Amino acid sequence: MSEPKSAAAAPLRAVKGMNDLRPPESARWEWFDAVVGALMRRYGYQLVRTPIVEPTALFVRGLGEVTDIVEKEMYSFVDAMNGDHLTLRPEGTAGVVRAAIEHSMLYDGGKRLWYAGPMFRHERPQRGRYRQFHQVGVEALGFGGPDVDAEVILMVRALWRDLGLDDVRLELNSLGQPDERRAHRAALIAHFEAHAGLLDDDARRRLHSNPLRILDTKNPAMQPLVEAAPRLMDYLGEASLKHFDAVRRVLDAVGQPYRINPRLVRGMDYYNLTVFEWVTDRLGAQGTVCGGGRYDGLVELIGGKPAPGVGWGLGVERVLDLVRESGVEVPPSAPDAFVVIPDAAAVAAATSVAEALRAAGVAVLLHAAGREGPGSMKSQFRKADASGARFALVFGAEELSRGEVAVKPLRDPAAPQTTRPLDAAERWAHELLAP
Ligand code: ATP
Ligand code: MG
Repeated sequence: MSEPKSAAAAPLRAVKGMNDLRPPESARWEWFDAVVGALMRRYGYQLVRTPIVEPTALFVRGLGEVTDIVEKEMYSFVDAMNGDHLTLRPEGTAGVVRAAIEHSMLYDGGKRLWYAGPMFRHERPQRGRYRQFHQVGVEALGFGGPDVDAEVILMVRALWRDLGLDDVRLELNSLGQPDERRAHRAALIAHFEAHAGLLDDDARRRLHSNPLRILDTKNPAMQPLVEAAPRLMDYLGEASLKHFDAVRRVLDAVGQPYRINPRLVRGMDYYNLTVFEWVTDRLGAQGTVCGGGRYDGLVELIGGKPAPGVGWGLGVERVLDLVRESGVEVPPSAPDAFVVIPDAAAVAAATSVAEALRAAGVAVLLHAAGREGPGSMKSQFRKADASGARFALVFGAEELSRGEVAVKPLRDPAAPQTTRPLDAAERWAHELLAP
């Protein structure tokens, strides 16, 4: 019998539902991050970065106890050092609002903020649903008008355009105000009680604690019952309807189509008035790529002076899955030039030139020699080709002795090889940059 393998040799794997981002996929993320950064700048949203770990109470209070997230999806733990109850953030809004309150960010008026980063939910991993996933989101705090609802919605439209996506649909609803929801809630409970036999376990449990959330069910067997439920829209008062109409008027004016979905309620308790989702048919069951809405009660709930808020969060994995499904070409991340080093003696000269070119903005990849030396020219040129570089810079002994480097175009076989001086590389650097 063979020896049992030592513990050190056993392969360690990533936690289930948590992914490694690696090349070439990571290039897609870098491109996405750049597109998002530019979008936020154009709309005047400023970045906030909050901790990944927050007090558990923040989410229990902020999201509501009867939500999927708080009931069963949070990674919560007790800090062994001091007994604090902590949670890996499952979403971004609560943390941003906490930070805004803690640092009195709203003292001189509203703030337009955005965030990006990993979120954690203990869900069953499947396509578009992971235990660590990533969100980008915006929170416009301190603005109560419907104009900002439309603004945040239209930012997402602009993002789809910038990403080259053309089949993400907007769904819209209004949740009204708490008192309007109370009247609707009574009607809803009566409706579900009248059909108690058709309710699943989740729905039975929520019937009296959070019946609105039953509308959010993903259980197909429940659909007819949900379909026939009383509509919140019919319980909205004049002010809520006016707000909703104003949002719709802006969307109509800028030509953004939407479908009013009376069953759109969103997962979190804190929403009021406008709620929306951006959905696609291309991703199977996980078709919601972005969700958001207004949450005028949240700032006060978390302990701040009352201030309105509206925002959205989108799932980066789902959006990039859609980018892939839609066949969008992501700009390549190939270097401009690949440095070929026939002999180890050329490393110093090649590195000097590479550094000068990089300082001038050229992306330069150096052939890295092994312990045994640089390897054959043939294999180096193979690597140069594979790198996607448009030029090879060849530091051959002959060229070096003349104080030159050979520049060989790799993408255009007809283009001739030329030479450039080793010193003052910054003067010819621009010739290597992509047109
Ligand atoms: P779902 O109904 O799909 O569970 P949700 O209502 O829980 O979504 P939100 O809390 O609104 O989602 O989060 C905003 C976005 O984050 C979603 O629209 C989705 O794109 C993404 N998202 C949510 N949960 C996950 C997850 N576990 N894995 C990957 N992306 C997710
Ligand atoms: Mg969910």
